[in-house]
Amino acid sequence: MSYPGFQYTAPRSVREAVEVLRLAKERGKGAKILAGGTDLMVQLRERAVTPDVVVDISRIPSLTRIERMGNEIRIGPLVTHSMLATSDLIREYVGVLSEAARAVGSPQIRNLGTLGGNIVNASPAADTIPALVILEARLILTGPGGERVLSITDFFKGPYATVIGKDELLTGIIVPLPPPSGRAIFLKLARRKALAIARMNLACMLYYNRQKEVFEWTRLCVGSSTPRPVRMTEAEKALEGQPFTDSVLQKAGRAAAEQMVALSGLRSSTAYKKPVVGDLVMRAVRLAVEKG
Ligand SMILES: Cc1cc2nc3c(=O)[nH]c(=O)nc-3n(C[C@H](O)[C@H](O)[C@H](O)COP(=O)(O)OP(=O)(O)OC[C@H]3O[C@@H](n4cnc5c(N)ncnc54)[C@H](O)[C@@H]3O)c2cc1C
Repeated sequence: MSYPGFQYTAPRSVREAVEVLRLAKERGKGAKILAGGTDLMVQLRERAVTPDVVVDISRIPSLTRIERMGNEIRIGPLVTHSMLATSDLIREYVGVLSEAARAVGSPQIRNLGTLGGNIVNASPAADTIPALVILEARLILTGPGGERVLSITDFFKGPYATVIGKDELLTGIIVPLPPPSGRAIFLKLARRKALAIARMNLACMLYYNRQKEVFEWTRLCVGSSTPRPVRMTEAEKALEGQPFTDSVLQKAGRAAAEQMVALSGLRSSTAYKKPVVGDLVMRAVRLAVEKG
């Protein structure tokens, strides 16, 4: 099979890449950014996308860093899932992102696939997104007019749709350090263990105060369950200020399932997903509390 022709360019800096995107937009040409290519190559092959220009950003060194800056960790969009899985900084401070990255595909996919690609591709099943949502991450988008920063939840419009402009590049992911009291967990449900795209996944972080015997705060996000990634605020409310009991967990599970249906409407998958969301939430909360 031959690919439809496109111009290929590999800029060496963000400024150069943005200029290529700006010119393509000005000339009415479709441009696609290539990072690890694990999503894009499939889409090109299937002709789901037919760009005039492919902008390979994999040779821009400044986009591959993981750095601590005060109370935040800054992650370059070219950081791969393997790098996230093994980085001491990520494991120590935002371990849930490391767990999510470890759940991605196979070693080959983790070595090539990047965090930026996972975010911008905006698959509802993307493994890192629920973790970034509960970490309250922010994204830096760079375009011809400079940078803008927005919260990860404001980035997505729907499945595979985001607010990124045609002449913008995702250039950084800012992850605020969560309170040290938080205990976090990432769970993934997939058909097969290896190479499976998640049927559903969940990230949870919470602080259970053992002296007072109440949940002080909780953050929950379930992937593949809502049109846009959101916090399961109804389940969070059902937990906060409550003790760690079966009935509180069941209430939280039901609240999450009801919020999913309210946001997604009744679909063919609802019969499967509704009880599973509830169970996932209960399991995750239990496991997070057991972390101590
Ligand atoms: C066999 C297989 C298994 C997989 N398993 C999983 C899995 O278990 N979990 C999971 O979450 N994903 C999985 N994926 C999907 C994919 O590997 C991930 O989404 C990966 O993180 C994409 O990163 P990439 O660098 O390869 O993106 P690319 O394919 O290079 O790009 C993806 C999209 O993002 C855009 N883009 C990339 N970087 C930027 C940027 N910096 N700024 C603006 N736009 C950008 C591209 O234009 C493209 O639209 C799998 C894919 C395959 C083929």
